[in-house]
Amino acid sequence: MRTEKGFGRASSPSGASTGVHEALELRDGGARYGGKGVLFAVKNVNSLISKRISGMDVSGQAEIDRALCELDGTSNKSRLGANATTAVSLAVAQCAASERGCGLHSILGKGKIPAPMLNVLNGGKHAGNGVAIQEFIIYPLNFNSFSEALCAGSEIYHTLRALISKKYGSAATGLGDEGGFAPPCKKTEDALDLIEASISEAGYQKKVKIGIDAAASSFFSSGKYTVDGKKLDAKGLTDKYISLAKSYPIVSMEDPFHEEAFEDFAILRKKLARRVQIVGDDLTVTNVSRIKKAISVNSMSSLLLKVNQIGTLTESLQAASLCQRAGLGVVVSHRSGETEDTAIADIAVGIGCGQIKSGAPCRGERTAKYNRLLLIESELGPRSFAGASGLVL
Ligand code: PEP
Ligand code: MG
Repeated sequence: MRTEKGFGRASSPSGASTGVHEALELRDGGARYGGKGVLFAVKNVNSLISKRISGMDVSGQAEIDRALCELDGTSNKSRLGANATTAVSLAVAQCAASERGCGLHSILGKGKIPAPMLNVLNGGKHAGNGVAIQEFIIYPLNFNSFSEALCAGSEIYHTLRALISKKYGSAATGLGDEGGFAPPCKKTEDALDLIEASISEAGYQKKVKIGIDAAASSFFSSGKYTVDGKKLDAKGLTDKYISLAKSYPIVSMEDPFHEEAFEDFAILRKKLARRVQIVGDDLTVTNVSRIKKAISVNSMSSLLLKVNQIGTLTESLQAASLCQRAGLGVVVSHRSGETEDTAIADIAVGIGCGQIKSGAPCRGERTAKYNRLLLIESELGPRSFAGASGLVL
């Protein structure tokens, strides 16, 4: 995106464990790139979208995003592709920031640096290790700055590598989609034991907590969840989560049940109230109408916010502000299929939500976001670090 004074560039990520209610990511099909090409989406950007928004003012993000939605005309961006609209919408925001000569975060608002949620052990659709739970997250909350929190996260990550190598052999230290290790753990507890041991061996027992993203739709079928070789109903899985929360310093659980299980989320939320944050991702897909339902049923304490689930920045900001007004938290998130784009770091700072999930401290597409946050911290100062304030229990 170019204007007389500004320039903006953005790209759209992709998910492996996508929710069925997400906006549509337009792929070409056919043989090229195994059907995953995006020539149609790119053509939409360069023809339909370009024609519609050329000449509009980039400082009017909401007007441009409204024009994108109207041009698309569907409920799930299936005409233009949410990959096309996400990239354009974010490029508009970057261009507006460039026109003002400042970082994207500062045109969005608050200036609070989020605590990082680092996914250091991968399972589910992000790995081939047979572990049901998709993400095991270390959450360095109790630090005075983002850089100290990230340093602790990185030290724990490398300690974990050594522990995995010792237990399973060095061949087991390969990485999953989000840069976390993917060892062949037999049980959920094996993964949590490794993580707990690496936190204490690195010397951060009191300062670093644990989170999980079950992404439970991916192990739900015919009314049962298959975890650790057992088939559990929602009640059995609830009991398992409660027992895990008793045994480990877990403070956050994302998508503990499948994407239509609003009531089961609510039961778990009540049972773990004031101890564990319950996060909706596939449940709510950054979509205001699904979030309203989750709020009315009390399903979650925080929203996982992914811009490409809905397809424009404005709709994502509306989703965040709906949650913040209702007293809920927000976690801004990357996707398993990421790019080097760093907009989510600025968005997390700008909306002041206090939490960001961007994978392990490893692989350029993940570290790009953490490095951007280090840069923003050098601008705003360590006191802008949110610490534990974003967590809503
Ligand atoms: C997630 O489920 O939170 C996630 C980041 O994975 P994906 O991008 O595969 O949906
Ligand atoms: Mg998720």
